[in-house]
Amino acid sequence: MPATLIDGKTYAARVKAKVAEGVAALGASRSITPALAVVLVGADPASQVYVRAKGRACEEVGIRSIEHRLPDDTSQETLLALVETLNADPQVSGILVQFPVPAQISQQAVIDAIDPLKDVDGLHPLNAGRLASGLDAMVPCTPYGAYLMLKGVREDLSGLKALVIGRSNLVGKPVAQLLLRENCTVTMAHSRTRDLRAEARAADILVAAIGKPNFVQGDWVKPGAIVIDVGINRIPAPEKGEGKTRLVGDVDFAAASQIAGAITPVPGGVGLMTVACLMRNTLIAAHRQAGLADPVE
Ligand code: NAP
Repeated sequence: MPATLIDGKTYAARVKAKVAEGVAALGASRSITPALAVVLVGADPASQVYVRAKGRACEEVGIRSIEHRLPDDTSQETLLALVETLNADPQVSGILVQFPVPAQISQQAVIDAIDPLKDVDGLHPLNAGRLASGLDAMVPCTPYGAYLMLKGVREDLSGLKALVIGRSNLVGKPVAQLLLRENCTVTMAHSRTRDLRAEARAADILVAAIGKPNFVQGDWVKPGAIVIDVGINRIPAPEKGEGKTRLVGDVDFAAASQIAGAITPVPGGVGLMTVACLMRNTLIAAHRQAGLADPVE
C-alpha cells in the first residue's frame, strides 16, 4: 500500500493528552473542573454506544461527565426546559444533545436553544456564522478532527485544491470553511454535482462526507492526494458469519490507498477524532466562560 496511513488512534491520543494537561492546569490555576452534560433522548442503540464513549473519554481526560437520559416520548418543551437549566448552570461547561432526537422534537429548535458558549457540537447558527466569518467559534468536532489530521500530514495547505464531497452543516460545510481558512481552493460537491470523478481527479485534498459505502472509487483519486474519509457505513459481512456486519467508509479504501499519498482508514480514522475534539471543545468552552484564552490549538 503506497499511501501513508493517517492513524486516528495516534492523532486522538495526542489531542486527549493535550486536553488532559489543560484540564489539570485549569484545576490548579482556577479550581475549575470542566463538565460536559450529555443528553440522550430515547434508547437508540447506536446513540447509547456514542454516549458511553463520550463518558469514557471524559474520565480519561479529567472532565466531569453529566448524563441525562430521557424517555423516548419526551416532549420538545421538556427537553428545551432541561437545556435552559443546563445553560444557566455555572458548573456545566458544555452541552451535547445526542442526535437524532425522536420525531416529536425539532433538532433545529434544540440547536437554537443551546447557549453558543456551551455549544460543544458547534452547530448553533452563531458558531456556524462565526466560523464562516473567520472569527473564533466552537467548531464541530468531526470537521475539526479531519482538519487536525490534514495539518498533521501537511502543515502548509495553502494553495492546494480541496474537494469536499457532502455539504451538511455537521461535516461538509465546516470542513470547507476550515480549508478556506487554510487558503485552500475549495470545491464543495453534493448530490447534484456533475462529473464528480473529474472534480476528484483534480483535488490535492479529498474529503468524503457522503454516507455511501465505498462510493469514491480508487481511480477518482489524484495520485499523491490526501484522502480524508469521514463516512461511517455499516454493511453486511457474510464472510464473518451469518448476520454479521462491518464498518466501511465512503471511499473504496483498498483501491484508493494504492493511489493516494495519505489516507484515513475506516474504522480507526476520523471517527476516533470526533470524541477527542469534543473533549477539546469542552475544555475551550470552560476557558471562554471563565474569560480565559483558548488553551489548545
Ligand atoms: P448527510 O447530512 O446525509 O449529508 C450527506 C451529503 O452527501 C449531502 O450533502 C449529500 O448531498 C451528499 N451526497 C449524497 N449522495 C451523493 C452523491 N451521490 N454524490 C455526491 N454527494 C452526495 O451526512 P453527514 O451527517 O454529513 O455525514 C456524512 C457521513 O459522515 C456519514 O457516513 C456519517 O455517518 C459520517 N459521519 C461520521 C462522523 C464521525 O465521527 N467520523 C461524524 C458525523 C458523520 P445533498 O446535500 O445534495 O443531498
